[in-house]
Amino acid sequence: MLKGKTALVTGSTSGIGLGVAEALAEARCNIVINGFGDAAEIEALRGRLEKTHGVKARYDGADMSKPAAIEAMIKKAVSEFGAVDILVNNAGIQHVAPVDEFPPDKWDAIIAINLVSNFHTIRHALPGMKKKGWGRIINIASAHALVASPFKSAYVAAKHGVAGLTKTVALEVAQQGITVNAICPAYVLTPLVEKQIPDTAKARGITEQQVMTDVLLAAQPTKKFVTIEQVAGLAMYLASEQAASVTGAILSIDGGWTAQ
Ligand code: NAD
Repeated sequence: MLKGKTALVTGSTSGIGLGVAEALAEARCNIVINGFGDAAEIEALRGRLEKTHGVKARYDGADMSKPAAIEAMIKKAVSEFGAVDILVNNAGIQHVAPVDEFPPDKWDAIIAINLVSNFHTIRHALPGMKKKGWGRIINIASAHALVASPFKSAYVAAKHGVAGLTKTVALEVAQQGITVNAICPAYVLTPLVEKQIPDTAKARGITEQQVMTDVLLAAQPTKKFVTIEQVAGLAMYLASEQAASVTGAILSIDGGWTAQ
């Protein structure tokens, strides 16, 4: 059912975005991947997606903190593939520090990449979706779209913002065959999480092992990390026809964290 559609996944050179891009390619969607990394590795990834799944895969290195680059990326995808049918807003960064020590440039970068980029991708992708009368917008938010943790003020503010944006756009396009939803994972062991372990240890004055057990998994009743495949599975459901009535939903995939 998704065969021949075009999907654009921001921040798909790593972690969750890569897993979602792989799953969409497996469903025979043409793919635009985006994100940073080693050029040769990204080219190998692009080639692998094409070869393994028999789809077209393109790479766009647009920086999600740059509105003009976002506009150019969406325009290029639309001119090449006709539309962006499935937009997955996934690119994200993190910084952990007490709010009164939070570097303002880090705050600005987190808000720009984790929240404002979603506004720009959506506003440029929507006209093509409206023309086709079909579209799927899937925002990778976080459990931090629903609850807070100390030392993550910018991230929590951005992700709560993503939840609000998701609901608002869902209402605006509800009668046009376009759904807009947010996925809210708890901790998934990706480079984004691995990188924050030393800073969290420093901020809380504990060891890195204690960060894993006493901080990251403390609030997850399952005591297990969520997997990339589980998040990709939920994204694939949201992209499907069966999910046509699921819109404006803020969907937790968090091992019970936000049930507490
Ligand atoms: P990751 O660090 O593995 O991947 C992030 C991706 O975003 C990479 O491809 C990176 O190159 C890209 N990126 C970063 N800055 C960018 C920029 N300015 N422009 C374009 N691309 C950029 O992280 P991840 O854990 O896979 O996170 C993906 C998303 O999932 C993020 O929005 C994150 O907030 C969210 N999330 C992650 C977890 C988790 O525990 N890992 C939990 C909840 C939500």
